[in-house]
Amino acid sequence: MTHYQAYSLPHLSRLPQLNQLSNHQKFEMEVVAHVFPFKTNNYVMEQLIHWEDVPNDPLFLLTFPQKKMLLPHHFEKMSRVLQDGSSKQTVREVANEIRWELNPHPAGQKEANLPILDGVPLNGIQHKYRETVLFFPSQGQTCHAYCSFCFRWPQFVGINELKFATREMDLLIKYIHQHPEITDVLFTGGDPLIMKTKTLAAYIRELLKAELPNLQTIRIGTKALSYWPYRFLTDPDAHELLMLFREVTYSGKHLAFMAHFNHPRELQNETVQLAIQRIHETGAEIRTQSPILAHINDHPATWATLWKEQVRLNCIPYYMFVVRDTGAQHYFGINLEKAWNIFREAYQTVSGIGRTVRGPSLSTHPGKVQVLGVQEIKGEKVFMLQFLQAREPNRVLRPFFAKYDPDAVWLDDLRPAFGEKKFFFED
Ligand SMILES: *Cc1c(COP(=O)(O)O)cnc(C)c1O
Ligand code: SF4
Repeated sequence: MTHYQAYSLPHLSRLPQLNQLSNHQKFEMEVVAHVFPFKTNNYVMEQLIHWEDVPNDPLFLLTFPQKKMLLPHHFEKMSRVLQDGSSKQTVREVANEIRWELNPHPAGQKEANLPILDGVPLNGIQHKYRETVLFFPSQGQTCHAYCSFCFRWPQFVGINELKFATREMDLLIKYIHQHPEITDVLFTGGDPLIMKTKTLAAYIRELLKAELPNLQTIRIGTKALSYWPYRFLTDPDAHELLMLFREVTYSGKHLAFMAHFNHPRELQNETVQLAIQRIHETGAEIRTQSPILAHINDHPATWATLWKEQVRLNCIPYYMFVVRDTGAQHYFGINLEKAWNIFREAYQTVSGIGRTVRGPSLSTHPGKVQVLGVQEIKGEKVFMLQFLQAREPNRVLRPFFAKYDPDAVWLDDLRPAFGEKKFFFED
């Protein structure tokens, strides 16, 4: 039995493991943690981070705030407020000013994907791609960590306008009834597995009880395997949780975990491997995804290892994402050409079993755009791209071309190739 111990901003100055850092470095971390929320736990601290490699250890960089996660002028601004001994109120206001400048709702998440039921918008549900609705249970809107590259970071900072969540499972069920094209419900957050089993079970049982003929797959997006595998092993309601998974698979639905793994080390210990095995024993599948992140996993060998380990553990590599245009994109982001090169070099080293992975993929307003590569066509150097998912389904898998730009990190940076005025999806 391992007890959960969370660490957050007040611990930064006191953690014994951080004694190897100077006071100056600790202060820098605190400055950043006042803007991007910070949270970690005893499993990450004791089993994932290699403290002898700090401050360059990838798992340390992934979970602890770093100076360069803020732009220099934002860092200066927050650092000055803290040094002046300003009131809590002022610190909070400055933090929120900076946050609003970091594109807290990329890809129009909040407005554009809001489903309407009988004329009423359903807060806490998103429906962007025809087959899949996202459900944000209100008790699951926090996470095991607060990654500053994640588009969910605004949900953790307590700016109320930035949150969306719901308790309205019955409205979701009605909506799915009215939309026979929906096959998947994705429980997301935050991390839905932060919820007690009882709470999650109430949602899931209601969904199963509705016997929706079109519902095929229940998905759960989670970082729990990576950051708190005891959720499936020794937490007081772990057994009950596994029984709930069984209930889903026995009911004839597919239960899919969309698990975040950013680095092979998250897979390389007995605790996580046992947790993966327990989940598989319930008949559920685990699919894996991660963004490609500077400082963490921007090498083909890292991805090759990640995918190979996943296949060995019966997990299914699913997506490699490009860091979104939000939060600390300037710290973690990688240009599209480099992302593609890393993807293909890693992909070439795994057998077809590991090539279920797709990427590099950009989750943009019109859809998930895959970078197919860089090519020269009739004397013009271009990016080849396609939609893997699109708001308008008939746009999927139609190749399109953008002018080559070595610095492009996002779709907004790209212009149509061959002298065209717009991309086909801009009509
Ligand atoms: C990625 C995503 C999905 C799921 O897409 P799949 O390709 O089916 O995994 C659903 N909704 C939104 C808004 C997404 O970004
Ligand atoms: S959802 Fe995943 S990427 Fe986002 S903050 Fe939580 S753990 Fe990090």
